[in-house]
Amino acid sequence: MSFTLTVLGSSSALPTATTNPTAHLLKADERFFLIDCGEGTQMQLRRNHVKIQRIHHVFISHLHGDHYFGLIGLITTMQLLGRVKTLHIYSPPGLKAIIELQRRPYNHYENGDGNEIENTSSDKTSKKEDDYFPIIFHELETRKNTVIFDDNKISVETIPLKHRIPCCGFLFREKPKLRKILPEMILKHKISIEQIQKIKLGENLQKEDGTIITNEEITLPALDSESYAFCSDTRFNESIIPIIKGVDLLYHEATFLHELEHLAKKTAHSTALQAATIAMKAEVKQLIIGHFSARYKNKDVLLNEAKTVFENTVVAEEGKTYSPTNQ
Ligand SMILES: [Zn+2]
Repeated sequence: MSFTLTVLGSSSALPTATTNPTAHLLKADERFFLIDCGEGTQMQLRRNHVKIQRIHHVFISHLHGDHYFGLIGLITTMQLLGRVKTLHIYSPPGLKAIIELQRRPYNHYENGDGNEIENTSSDKTSKKEDDYFPIIFHELETRKNTVIFDDNKISVETIPLKHRIPCCGFLFREKPKLRKILPEMILKHKISIEQIQKIKLGENLQKEDGTIITNEEITLPALDSESYAFCSDTRFNESIIPIIKGVDLLYHEATFLHELEHLAKKTAHSTALQAATIAMKAEVKQLIIGHFSARYKNKDVLLNEAKTVFENTVVAEEGKTYSPTNQ
């Protein structure tokens, strides 16, 4: 198991006494990826004992406040805790200006011409701009499916969504894993480090006397690669199906029951039935629904509706961790 997903916030626009706006934390190969960052996300990270300085990549689906108002609080806390490492933030255009304005050093003010003037107060705690840890903003083109992050273990691509403003989801996919070499075989055949790398890629072992040992004799098959698709917020949009086809875990917003389909259409959101239809047509393994309207006190009605179309559906519960293998 290398993917685990912790739901930090599950409600739509209005936070309630018991729920928070959208935020998910994906732990993939010992790294943390924060996906959306609604108000209160840093408190949720604390409650779930996440070391926030281990977050280096934040993905924001769109610039409605319930998906990013927690960002400046989180960034400020990172700063106060002495962060020096770079933070990468991926979002549709517009977020850089907002965050940089909020982050502007408070020992500088602008005069009427927009020119900076020094603060003459005796506040010795004021910081210079150079003291702030670096943030790199990656502006996303939300209308086409694009790879935005890629390294030797994982890739992240956008999922174009249809909402009232530019919006995209994110698809996290592990790269194919290597075969596992049996430790006792390393000793038995005196396999060198160079040979180990080739064997993990699937090659046979050729010994010095010319004997061939097949790869299957000395390795175990590679573990399956895992995938997670995050889709929020969106109207019913079947064009995402080829992109998310067969993923292990799909999160899809389900703001309303289908009896309020007209409201879903008007606000560019989805119903539980529509989320389940996407899951069924995309043949995903498991569906998590969330982003519920505050009008639903009991989430079972949304769950039951989704299950009429896609049985393996669960409700996003804050503080709960999901993984492709603990279905
Ligand atoms: Zn929205």
